[in-house]
Amino acid sequence: WLLGFKPHRVVIASDRIEEYYRHVDLMIDGDFGYVCECSAEAFREFRVSKTNCPCRINEVNYNKELWSKMLDGTFNPGDAVVRVKTDMTLKNPALRDWPALRIQDTIANPHPRENIASKYRVWPLLDFQSAVEDHLQGVTHIIRGKDLMDSTRKQTLLYEHFGWKYPETMYWGRVKVHEWGGFSTSQMRKDIEEGKFSGWSDPRLPTIAGLSGTGIQASALRSFWVELGVTQKDIAVPLATLYSHNIKVIDDNAPRIAFIRDPVEISLVGINENNITIPTHPNHTEMGSRVIDLSNPIVYIEREDLQHSALRLKEFGDFDIDGKVATFVSKERTDKRKIIHWVSQNSSDSSKLELVKDGQLLSIEGRLESHQIKLGTSVQLERIGYGIIAENNKVIFTHN
Ligand SMILES: [Zn+2]
Repeated sequence: WLLGFKPHRVVIASDRIEEYYRHVDLMIDGDFGYVCECSAEAFREFRVSKTNCPCRINEVNYNKELWSKMLDGTFNPGDAVVRVKTDMTLKNPALRDWPALRIQDTIANPHPRENIASKYRVWPLLDFQSAVEDHLQGVTHIIRGKDLMDSTRKQTLLYEHFGWKYPETMYWGRVKVHEWGGFSTSQMRKDIEEGKFSGWSDPRLPTIAGLSGTGIQASALRSFWVELGVTQKDIAVPLATLYSHNIKVIDDNAPRIAFIRDPVEISLVGINENNITIPTHPNHTEMGSRVIDLSNPIVYIEREDLQHSALRLKEFGDFDIDGKVATFVSKERTDKRKIIHWVSQNSSDSSKLELVKDGQLLSIEGRLESHQIKLGTSVQLERIGYGIIAENNKVIFTHN
């Protein structure tokens, strides 16, 4: 969805475990990988004191033996890990003989994919897995967060051992969207599990699914990121920036449609037409027109607009208001009276506008102009903003 095309190739790491094991064999044979039986605490000591752990000098054949014990279940989780031999005196502690694979208790905690489940007990760590896979897939460029620079350094050391060429790497800094400052993935997961949100696609959440569900277009997200560029500088932007990209994408194609919040019924007096025709889009006649049925001269306007004694019904005419009766004055504009949107009773249906305001999900009852617009289409709601047509004649608000 985000890229605008389907992936050309999908690689699932858990289907490729044997491939990673094969690379452990190569590491051990090349004597740049070894099985370490030290406890995590013991190894931490060695790392801090820049000393080799006793396992480091084990011979290739003995390492092979230990490696098969990791695989066959002789070792339990925590008993042993496979390490990449770098140098225990390196300045950056994270790079010192970093761990590549470890044993997991997949009987107690099976892998979520059913065909994998408890099939493997030794699992690669992300830096090892992605390093090997990037090479196997022929990856030429990596774009990652600058917080992952140590991953690049670790993986470069592994690539040197294998004699591979490391991909070009670019980094970006933290991009903060002001309005989303308070969200974190772990907190969102917790809140979803506790039922505070309906799921990852909840419109209140700053997730891809949430954004797409409220009508943010993939190409708008892409141009938002392209405009920010790949920079290591931390930046903060308002949500309005993303919205302005979205407006550029949708405005030209968004049919205009009226939604009346808090509708009040008004009778029209002095009109001659049984219907009027107004364009679907002011700049695109090819998008057709909307025919508003006035054979029954009752319209709805927003209660707030009723406080004026003179109003102009948009694309229709000037009216004088007395109570709940509007008397026709002129087709042409006669003065500077307020222009309001409206719907006719015959050409509208009761509907709901769903929107997020201050982190709350609100549902506003109203009247929506009758339409033939397809589900999921972005529309411009007169005087309100943009939204998408959802099921049950509901409109989900995107932004204004
Ligand atoms: Zn050790």
